[in-house]
Amino acid sequence: MRQTLDFLLFDWLRAGDLTTRERFAEHSAETFAAVLDTCERIAREKFAPFNRLADTEEPRFDGERVHLPQATHEATQAYAESGMLAAAQDYDVGGMQLPCVIEMAGNAFFSKASVAMGGYAMLTSGNANLIMAHGTPLQREVFARNEFAGRWFGTMCLSEPQAGSSLSDVATRAELEDEADPLGPRYRLTGHKMWISAGEHEITENIVHLVLAKIPGPDGRPVPGTKGISLFIVPKKLVDERAELTGERNDVVLAGLNHKLGYRGTTNCLLNFGEGRFTPLGRKGAVGYLVGRPGDGLRCMFHMMNEARIGVGLGAVMLGYAGYEASLEYAKQRPQGRPMTAAGKDAASPQRPIIEHADVRRMLLAQKSYVEGGLALELYCARLVDELHTGDDAAGAQALLDVLIPIAKSWPSEWCLEANSLAIQVLGGYGYTRDFPVEQYWRDQRLNMIHEGTHGIQALDLLGRKVVQQGGASLAALAARVQQTIERAIHTDWAPQAHQLAAALAQVGGATKKAWSTGEPEEALANATPYLQAFGHTVLAWLWLDVALSVQGEGDFAQGKRAAARYFFAYELPRIDAWLAVVARREPLCREIRAEWL
Ligand SMILES: Cc1cc2nc3c(=O)[nH]c(=O)nc-3n(C[C@H](O)[C@H](O)[C@H](O)COP(=O)(O)OP(=O)(O)OC[C@H]3O[C@@H](n4cnc5c(N)ncnc54)[C@H](O)[C@@H]3O)c2cc1C
Repeated sequence: MRQTLDFLLFDWLRAGDLTTRERFAEHSAETFAAVLDTCERIAREKFAPFNRLADTEEPRFDGERVHLPQATHEATQAYAESGMLAAAQDYDVGGMQLPCVIEMAGNAFFSKASVAMGGYAMLTSGNANLIMAHGTPLQREVFARNEFAGRWFGTMCLSEPQAGSSLSDVATRAELEDEADPLGPRYRLTGHKMWISAGEHEITENIVHLVLAKIPGPDGRPVPGTKGISLFIVPKKLVDERAELTGERNDVVLAGLNHKLGYRGTTNCLLNFGEGRFTPLGRKGAVGYLVGRPGDGLRCMFHMMNEARIGVGLGAVMLGYAGYEASLEYAKQRPQGRPMTAAGKDAASPQRPIIEHADVRRMLLAQKSYVEGGLALELYCARLVDELHTGDDAAGAQALLDVLIPIAKSWPSEWCLEANSLAIQVLGGYGYTRDFPVEQYWRDQRLNMIHEGTHGIQALDLLGRKVVQQGGASLAALAARVQQTIERAIHTDWAPQAHQLAAALAQVGGATKKAWSTGEPEEALANATPYLQAFGHTVLAWLWLDVALSVQGEGDFAQGKRAAARYFFAYELPRIDAWLAVVARREPLCREIRAEWL
């Protein structure tokens, strides 16, 4: 994986050129490599050996405390000491001023080694970055700085039992108590937050929850819709302006842990806010400090959405990668079956390793095309985030990110899950047992189509908003990029693929128009998920062609990349015909079928 990562980062995406920008001027190819080396080493030593342990010894709640394996404490501490929690932050707040693309690449090692043990740090970093962007100077100093230092960890509390995809239905209430608290306008929160990752543990002395809640309107009722949602910092234990614990416990408590299919190393919690178990500052109600303006909660929360969704997509890719490498290794060792010749099989000859069978190679090549293609997609998007923040065409980068982010989140969630399934298949019966790691990768992976916006919600976002916004400007920006690759490829050996890609692009454009031709959202969006699949496969075909064009030489590495690109065009891209057919004719079946028939 490291060779592919380095190739994509430095040869294909020219990440080294970023050092000419002022923000990254103190970096060099050597410092970037050193960051990747450090992450690779910590992930190998502190995370990978304990990935199975974190799964089998899942978090346990004894009614008072949550117990985690000691290895999780040590791994997260090693991560914090590496400085990666503040990787992208300014030097003057203890950060490394790393480009997003290098930060993401470094974090990829942890996702591959143990995605669940890595969850605590990823959430903390996202939480603290958000406070840096929207918090007051004192909130940054007290909360974000201590999270970057690894003294406290953070969470994101959006979901509630009755409000998952539809966050406008959030029911947690926040009532103003003291406008003038130095840590920010102080509110009292009451409500329940469901599915909160890292919501309870004793890895750090405190937990900084970032919570979405509604401030009641003048009539005392919550304002309907997303406009009424605000964002609050709710520390598990109260702290003062000098970031010292005051000794008081806040009124936020663990109601129970959820027991999950996978991702078991990260605690997952139902949290009760303001039920009166504790009485901070003399009364019940969870103390929370407003971040940003009232009603601006979702906007603040989604400010970091690009990075969060690329992070989920990259995590999905890495789980796929872990399964691919494990099944590749196995296929080289496992003797089973003999070659079939015109004269039949020679039972007296030795068995061949299963990697010699074309069907096993098909499964390996499919995995390779999904995981390496997925890695290219995520790094490309992370590089666009750097263009957005430090490049000279921020608007262009934003337009591309708008259409690519739903793909960055959803495509690996679906196709690297398929890669994990193929990895199990390559191992046969052994793959289905807990004696080999591949079944855990599949279980861990299954989450990714569910959280950070479900697959269906990503599809609605893509077809319902992103490709039609500003008269289709984002789709046009993407089409122009794809066209550039086609033009570079058309006079090379890749001309057949270039023509195939041009046809696919035209098909996507045509289906988009036909989906919306009646202007009826219900008609257009009934087939949003097949649209997402076709769109994603077209994007991946484009990236594979682009990657193939930058591969040099005839060695195994280069030939492997070419084979994966050819596989994608031969076996995968043709699938879009069926997906786009239902989109273009606005197939009414799923919309019209009666619930009683199901
Ligand atoms: C392990 C795990 C960790 C999580 N971590 C966190 C966390 O740290 N913080 C946090 O806030 N949340 C977290 N979540 C919550 C996660 O984001 C939600 O589960 C997700 O948003 C879906 O909400 P839901 O479970 O209520 O499903 P629902 O919203 O009820 O969706 C159920 C199904 O209906 C579909 N659906 C819903 N609405 C529509 C629609 N309008 N059109 C078409 N289809 C629709 C969905 O696509 C889905 O297939 C986590 C969840 C899990 C399982």
